[in-house]
Amino acid sequence: MVKPFSAIQRNTYLDEMQQEELDLLVIGGGITGAGIALDASVRGLSTGLIEMQDFAAGTSSRSTKLVHGGLRYLKQFEVKLVAEVGKERAIVYENAPHVTSPEWMLLPIMKGGTFGKLSTSVGLKAYDKLAGVKRNERRSMLNKKTTLEKAPLLRKEGLKGSGIYVEYKTDDARLTLEIMKEAVHRGTKATNYTKAESLLYNEAGKVIGAKVKDLVTGKTFDIKAKRVVNAAGPWVDDLREIDGSKKGKFLYLTKGVHLVIDQSRFPLKQAVYFDTEDDGRMVFAIPRDGKTYVGTTDTYYDGRIASPRMTQEDLDYILDAANYMFPSLKLEEKDVESSWAGLRPLIHEEGKSASEISRKDETFISDSGLISIAGGKLTGYRKMAQRIVDMVAKDVGVKGKCTTDKIVLSGGDVGGSNGLESFKKEQIKVGMDLGLDKKEAEKLVKLYGSNVKRVFEIMETSGEEAKHFHMPKSLYASLVYGLEEEMTTTPLDFFNRRTASLFFDIHWVKEWKVQVVNYMAYRLHWTSEQRDRYVEELEREMAYAMNPEEKVNA
Ligand SMILES: Cc1cc2nc3c(=O)[nH]c(=O)nc-3n(C[C@H](O)[C@H](O)[C@H](O)COP(=O)(O)OP(=O)(O)OC[C@H]3O[C@@H](n4cnc5c(N)ncnc54)[C@H](O)[C@@H]3O)c2cc1C
Repeated sequence: MVKPFSAIQRNTYLDEMQQEELDLLVIGGGITGAGIALDASVRGLSTGLIEMQDFAAGTSSRSTKLVHGGLRYLKQFEVKLVAEVGKERAIVYENAPHVTSPEWMLLPIMKGGTFGKLSTSVGLKAYDKLAGVKRNERRSMLNKKTTLEKAPLLRKEGLKGSGIYVEYKTDDARLTLEIMKEAVHRGTKATNYTKAESLLYNEAGKVIGAKVKDLVTGKTFDIKAKRVVNAAGPWVDDLREIDGSKKGKFLYLTKGVHLVIDQSRFPLKQAVYFDTEDDGRMVFAIPRDGKTYVGTTDTYYDGRIASPRMTQEDLDYILDAANYMFPSLKLEEKDVESSWAGLRPLIHEEGKSASEISRKDETFISDSGLISIAGGKLTGYRKMAQRIVDMVAKDVGVKGKCTTDKIVLSGGDVGGSNGLESFKKEQIKVGMDLGLDKKEAEKLVKLYGSNVKRVFEIMETSGEEAKHFHMPKSLYASLVYGLEEEMTTTPLDFFNRRTASLFFDIHWVKEWKVQVVNYMAYRLHWTSEQRDRYVEELEREMAYAMNPEEKVNA
């Protein structure tokens, strides 16, 4: 029997974590922590994970949402990184084909641009080779005419042709959640809104756990563990500071912003990866779910880590870049429907600029035994986890190799990438037989993969309650599934990390927020103070997604 990962039973996980000495406590529920918890649980380590916000609420819901090898790192001769991460793409895709899909990426070659025809051709070929790309997904070079057939909105002036190659598009937060859910199904005890406030040490000064606060109830307690891993992303140095071990290398945070524009204003059909006119940085424009998103920026950040925001300057920079490469669009601020901003936890290297700093992950082990892991990419999460768990397993005397390359993630049981299309077809029909229109059924199948069967079961059995709370059956089933099986604790968890609608369907958020709040308040027995706080949080995040920081604060 698979253990439910329920917001309603959050307390049982917290109780369980206090009752035993764990082999491993992971601090941080982004993709790095989730990956470590999964690998550790699969190898038989008793594992706990605490996350102070929602799972993936840090950087892991704020990326460019690509499972990619980092083509541009070839420019910095990061050959090993590109090879490792590039190869991981195929594994992530196979293990979770429902949240990962191949996306052909067009790299325009412009007169005076960073890459010429030869360097693009050689660079993409090297990428194919390093990343072990399948034959049918290898790069090809296009002339100007074919390039414009694929992307008619592209700037014609100075266009010489393009290279085209495959990357994978994902939903970063849902990928993190599917890893987290798989870890929990395999024994990890995990809770969100649970903060490590300080670390516990034995008499020899070795770290033996954490003092933890449940941010929902305000209660504090100790969790003991043989090993503690700090996978706190941009907060890694805060924990190293608590541990007294922040020396040598340290984190350097840079902010990256993305804008979302409706396809009616930016009808892009082909993903494009292009140079900006001003500073030659590379920017993505990617079609998704009726929208196009464009980004990113890369600027030094020293504000509040939990809430990086889009500023007017970020917005203008990205719109200028898009208007240069797609000049007929004449995009304006009012076309921006939503946005997000994230922080790259990069590792500081003397004398290098933000865009030049390596994206490699690094591990620090302090005198107290605290293991900190920082840097890296979403795409390379499994390898990062493998390195950490190899070390921890040896320390606690557990044998066994990493097998996560073969582990299908929660929702990914669709018959592999080859089986995905027929699975989708079959399940869309089930959804339509339950009264959904094709678009709604498709949305649920894409969002939940093989877990959609459970979502449909909820729809089938609880129609009256949906009516009572004035919700369409599909929304009701999504929400109940989120509460009972994905630890959805707040309305923002639901609209941001569970459904990505805060970014890609903000009108839907506006339409259903009241019903969602009413239902969650009823199921989770909120006090009126809690309800006000969660509503205020959702409203605030909507305002910041839609407007530059200066306008919200004015
Ligand atoms: C703009 C941008 C674009 C990117 N694009 C891509 C991309 O397209 N593809 C790709 O592969 N990578 C990309 N990346 C990189 C990728 O997003 C990150 O490498 C990855 O998400 C980092 O995950 P993490 O788990 O280490 O950190 P996070 O996701 O930030 O997770 C750390 C978690 O630790 C929690 N935490 C911190 N302190 C505590 C505490 N005391 N107690 C409990 N919990 C705590 C935080 O709340 C947070 O949720 C991008 C990054 C950025 C910023």
